[in-house]
Amino acid sequence: MFRNFKLVPNVIFGRGCFAQLDEIIAHRRTHKDAWAVFVTDDVFKGKALEKRIPVHDRDMLLWVNVADEPKTSYVDALTLKVKEYAPTLPCAVIGIGGGSSMDLAKAVSLMLTNEGSSTLYQGWDLIKHPAVWHAAVPTLSGTGAEVSRTTVLTGPEKKLGLNSDYTVFDQIVLDPELIKDVPADQHFYTGMDCYIHCIESLQGTYLNEFSRSYGEKSLDLCRQVFIDNHPDKDDKLMMASFFGGMSIAYSQVGACHALSYGLSYILGTHHGIGCCIVFDHLEEFYPEGVKEFRIMMEKCGIKLPKGLVADLAEDRIEKMITVALGLEPLWENCLGKNWKSIMTRDKAKSLFLNM
Ligand code: NAD
Ligand code: ZN
Repeated sequence: MFRNFKLVPNVIFGRGCFAQLDEIIAHRRTHKDAWAVFVTDDVFKGKALEKRIPVHDRDMLLWVNVADEPKTSYVDALTLKVKEYAPTLPCAVIGIGGGSSMDLAKAVSLMLTNEGSSTLYQGWDLIKHPAVWHAAVPTLSGTGAEVSRTTVLTGPEKKLGLNSDYTVFDQIVLDPELIKDVPADQHFYTGMDCYIHCIESLQGTYLNEFSRSYGEKSLDLCRQVFIDNHPDKDDKLMMASFFGGMSIAYSQVGACHALSYGLSYILGTHHGIGCCIVFDHLEEFYPEGVKEFRIMMEKCGIKLPKGLVADLAEDRIEKMITVALGLEPLWENCLGKNWKSIMTRDKAKSLFLNM
C-alpha cells in the first residue's frame, strides 16, 4: 500500500510576509462574532513581535510556555481555556513559535472538535473529526512541524503524536525575518534536528525518490547554513526545515530519533539538543553524517553536555531502552527488517551509557 498523505494547502514565503497574516485570517472571519485564537510562545511577551500580532477585539491571545515540551495535560488545559473563552468555536487557531508552540496549536485545534482528553488520540489516525482551521507561523526552524501530520505529545503513558490528516496545518506563514533573533545554541540544536532528519531519511531503507528529492535539497541548504554561514541563512534554514519535513513524511526518521525519544521520556531532554547528544554517538550507523555534524558543531562553537545516563537508576535506564526500542518503524528504516538482531537491548544500553 502506498501512503496518500495530505500536504499543507497554502504556503506564503518571504521576508516580511508575517504582515499578511491579518488578511489571511480575514477570510476565516465569515460572521460578525467570528474570533481567532493566537497560540503564542511566551518568549515574545513584551517583544516587538507581540505588537505585530493581528489580534482583533474578540480574539484571544493565548500565551504558551514551552519550558517543558508539550504534554497531553497542558493541551487539555489550554483547550479548556479556549472553550471557556467564548460560547462558539474560534474560526482559526494560529500557532506562533517553534516546534513546541506549533504542536500545541495543532493539538488545541484538534481537541476543540474531538471529545475527551488528548491522551485518547495518541497514535495513528485516531482523530474522528476535522480540526478547527489552523495555521502556523514558525519563529524557529528545523523541526519540520510546520509540514508534518503529527503533533508530538508526552502523555502519562507514552510520548506519541496525534498523527492524522486532520493534524496538517491549513496554512503556513514562512517569514525568515522571524528567526533572526533565535539564540545561537537553540538555532544550532533545532537546525541540526533538520540535518538529522535528512541523514536518517536519505540513509534509510524506506527511501524513495520523493523523499530523496526533498532530503537532498534540504541537506544542501543545511550545509549552506551551518558550514558556509551564507548571508541568506535564515531564508535557507526555513526552506531546509520545510523540505526536511517533506522528506521524512514519505520515509521515516531513524536510530537517532528513536534513542532521543528514550532520552527525552526519562530526562525531559528537549528534542533538538537530545538529537544532537544522541547523534554524536552514532558514528557506527551514520559515519559520514556524524563527521560532518562534528564539523558544523565546531564551526558554531557548540559543546554538548555529557554523562547524562551512566548515573541513573537501573530501572530508568531500562525504561529508556524500552521507549527507544518501541519505535519499530524507525529501527526498521535505519537497519532493515532484521533490526532486532542488531539493535539488541544490550546494544542500546551501551550506547545510552556513553551519553
Ligand atoms: P521549541 O519550540 O521547543 O523552542 C525552543 C526554545 O526557543 C524555547 O525556549 C522558545 O521559547 C525559544 N524560541 C522560539 N522561537 C524563538 C525566537 N524567534 N527567538 C528566541 N527564542 C525563541 O523548539 P523546537 O526545536 O522548534 O521544537 C521542539 C519541539 O518540536 C519538541 O516538542 C518536539 O517534540 C517537536 N517536534 C515536532 C515535530 C512534528 O512533526 N510535529 C517534529 C520534530 C519536533
Ligand atoms: Zn526531529
